[in-house]
Amino acid sequence: LKEKEKSYQLAKAAIGVDIGGTKIESALVRDDGSVAISIRIDTPSNTIPSEIINSIYAAIDGVLLERKEYIKGIGVGAPGQVELNTGKIIYAPNLNWHNVPLKELLLKKYTLPVYVDNDVRCAMLAEYKFGVAKNVSNFVCVFVGTGIGGGIMINGRVLRGVTNSAAEIGHMTLEKDGPKCNCGNSGCLESLASGPKIIEYAMERIKKRNSLIKNIVDNQLEKVNIDVIQRAFELKDKIAIETLERAAEYIGVGVANLINIFNPEMIILGGGVINASPSLLKMIKDVALGRVLKISKSKIKIVTPELKKYVGAIGASLLIES
Ligand SMILES: [Zn+2]
Repeated sequence: LKEKEKSYQLAKAAIGVDIGGTKIESALVRDDGSVAISIRIDTPSNTIPSEIINSIYAAIDGVLLERKEYIKGIGVGAPGQVELNTGKIIYAPNLNWHNVPLKELLLKKYTLPVYVDNDVRCAMLAEYKFGVAKNVSNFVCVFVGTGIGGGIMINGRVLRGVTNSAAEIGHMTLEKDGPKCNCGNSGCLESLASGPKIIEYAMERIKKRNSLIKNIVDNQLEKVNIDVIQRAFELKDKIAIETLERAAEYIGVGVANLINIFNPEMIILGGGVINASPSLLKMIKDVALGRVLKISKSKIKIVTPELKKYVGAIGASLLIES
């Protein structure tokens, strides 16, 4: 009887795993969103699925070994397109994965329910349950980093679309004859204003003209990143201003489109590029608010994410209830 009582009292928790291009993070997340145990492993750089999957197993095993809680299941956030019911990774560009049956592999190894979804969706769920979008049932996330990802929450439900590929905000066409995008289309938002594209734009210009960007990196141009462009912007460098204004214009137009289409209460603007450049964030807000319908503008809040640590893993753990 004592044993029975004891097991009954075990707190409930779920395992969340965030697979990133550089790190795999797993966490034991309690129902209140607190993290009891967490493990970080470097993502093997060779992108061979079996090696990365072994690292995912190691990250999960480490948590299972230490845990004292009752585990409801395993949620995994992957950086790419995920087929929802099979949990297969259709395509993950950063991992160079095609059709990897991740859920099936995890189900074979662990006798626990397994859920796999896109990592941006997971971050969105975390903000909805424990972060800046708590009690907000209509909001859109726009994450600008290596790519541009998104998530859309409508009336408290994740908008998935018929093939679980809704909210591909980065592939909204903004220049019909624009540069070729990784997806095959041309002129997508991502092909114009992702982190690498913003840097590329600045680089093309600093090669021909003087710029403080070059001084900041001591002419080691491979060190140019968004932080550097932000610093040069603060020093009123012309190319930095041009670069960030152009990116803000594209992202701001994209955000305005989203506001007019979905009439959300909140836009969450996040990701590495936004974190690195407060000036870009401010300009995106100005561009977006300058273009939206008056009626949508009256209720919209444009904010940044609230959760910092473990956000991907916490969000992945929430897939179990979403
Ligand atoms: Zn595209």
